[in-house]
Amino acid sequence: MSRPRIDLHTHSTASDGTDSPAAVMATAAAAGLDVVALTDHDTTAGWDDAAAALPPGLALVRGAEFSCVAPGEPDDPRGDIPVHLLGYLFDPVHPAIVAEQARLRRERDARLRRMTERMAAAGYPVDVDTVFSLLPHGASAGRPHLARALVGAGVVGSVDEAFATLLYTGSPFYVEKVDTPAATAVDMVRAAGGVAVFAHPLARRRGRVVSERVIAELAAAGLAGLEVDHPDHASADRALLRNLAADLDLVVTGSSDYHGTNKTTPIGAGTTDPAQLDALVARAAGVDVLAG
Ligand code: AMP
Ligand code: FE
Ligand code: FE
Ligand code: ZN
Repeated sequence: MSRPRIDLHTHSTASDGTDSPAAVMATAAAAGLDVVALTDHDTTAGWDDAAAALPPGLALVRGAEFSCVAPGEPDDPRGDIPVHLLGYLFDPVHPAIVAEQARLRRERDARLRRMTERMAAAGYPVDVDTVFSLLPHGASAGRPHLARALVGAGVVGSVDEAFATLLYTGSPFYVEKVDTPAATAVDMVRAAGGVAVFAHPLARRRGRVVSERVIAELAAAGLAGLEVDHPDHASADRALLRNLAADLDLVVTGSSDYHGTNKTTPIGAGTTDPAQLDALVARAAGVDVLAG
């Protein structure tokens, strides 16, 4: 058998992807992947549908992407930095996870509602009902849903353009949500038997990124890995992160961060070395990797 192809970061309609969980599994199989992780923002709502639709020969790593904040530079008045943490193979009914994900989904709803209202008040042809009609019941609301409404109304030509011109972090229409301290999220994932990986730590086009010191502190607090081969990482940053992971004894992952047609990146655009996945699985005790 040739070397397995492993993509550890994808999104479905349970959050801001455009493929159903079942369709993500089919897309992964069609792309020739051997292992795929489903990592919707702040929810495990897609796990069961993905598991039920798992094609033969594809293995599913169940996970989620947790909305977090990490400390900025001590002298930076802008304060904390929004970051994402990937949790894998944790127990989805662990009470702390259930409570925090539910809180974040409420935050997401309220915040997207306020962003939509701000845009409507400024004269943009969007409304709350239209934006939320794009969300299956219980899904995590995100800016891409508002972006799609703006595309649908002809305001912008693409989701990317909506982010670049209107929805970027810090734009006049941007509303913050109250995210989880990253160290708390690491604790929560570990308490639920899972493993935590820092998602796209140096995705600079999204805004400020954390220092090496913050990554080292999270490593000391139980972080298991760094997502290195991510589409939003420049090659110099990948090299830097690879060295940092070696220094801190962290697992290195790669992934596509597939979002269906909300992004242009195809599934499998980044992949993880099988030995690195083995190292993550060896540290997990929440739920198993599912074989299709
Ligand atoms: P939110 O979780 O509501 O803050 O929205 C952030 C999400 O928007 C990320 O998870 C990405 O899926 C998406 N996103 C961020 N930047 C862009 C961009 N430039 N183009 C398209 N999607 C983006
Ligand atoms: Fe997303
Ligand atoms: Fe992310
Ligand atoms: Zn993601």
